[in-house]
Amino acid sequence: MIKLKQITKSFGKNQVLKGIDLVVEKGEVVAILGPSGSGKTTLLRCINYLEKPSDGEITIADLTVQCKRPSKKEVHALRGKTAMVFQQYNLFRHKTALENVMEGLVVVQKVPKEEARKRSVELLEKVGLAGKLDAYPSQLSGGQQQRVGIARALALNPEVILFDEPTSALDPELVGEVLGVIRKIAKEGITMIIVTHEMGFAQDVANHVVFMDEGVVVEEGKPNEIFVSPKEERTKQFLKRFT
Ligand code: ADP
Repeated sequence: MIKLKQITKSFGKNQVLKGIDLVVEKGEVVAILGPSGSGKTTLLRCINYLEKPSDGEITIADLTVQCKRPSKKEVHALRGKTAMVFQQYNLFRHKTALENVMEGLVVVQKVPKEEARKRSVELLEKVGLAGKLDAYPSQLSGGQQQRVGIARALALNPEVILFDEPTSALDPELVGEVLGVIRKIAKEGITMIIVTHEMGFAQDVANHVVFMDEGVVVEEGKPNEIFVSPKEERTKQFLKRFT
């Protein structure tokens, strides 16, 4: 479904990703864990070319892209198969919740406006925002804004949703509502890759856990394999901080 082969990424002389291999099956929820600066966000951004990988190969469904020399068409196609949920929500400030969710459907996917509206209303209802369709981001809490971000990602009907620390900008009391929504959509079989520091959530919701450190995948496996009986010393040390 998704296959990353030997993905590398350097910023100048700083090699941040040192050859990442990862296979994600359809419907899997993958949690990427690791210390700050280990390259988690960069990896996520490389998957949809928000960052251009230095080298490697990315396959999403029927599309394989050689990262060194991708055509514009390939990059465009790759982006079309993914949707991203950002740490800072990245909503359009001058658009309502409904307009934010509709935007990608109408502008990128050329879905007729009425159909886009109908689908967006349904998705906002799904994330618990039926009463906030016409609210602007400034009138919404961080948790509500992030739920709009999730509805917007779902609207695109992507092969995979990439979550970049979706709760790290939130006040602690708002984290639960966003994790609740992610938990709910995870059950629907949507493939998701989530960079997170929420260990309890990762253990509970993910069915594939990847531990990264210093630009490499140190260890990966099922949640129990990583959380209960990690093999690598670096994984053990990292997890100790959360117990
Ligand atoms: P993590 O998500 O695990 O905290 P990141 O992927 O954000 O790690 O960052 C990994 C490393 O890459 C860090 O050393 C960071 O400073 C560096 N880095 C990330 N983005 C850029 C950038 N746009 N330019 C230069 N260095 C970057």
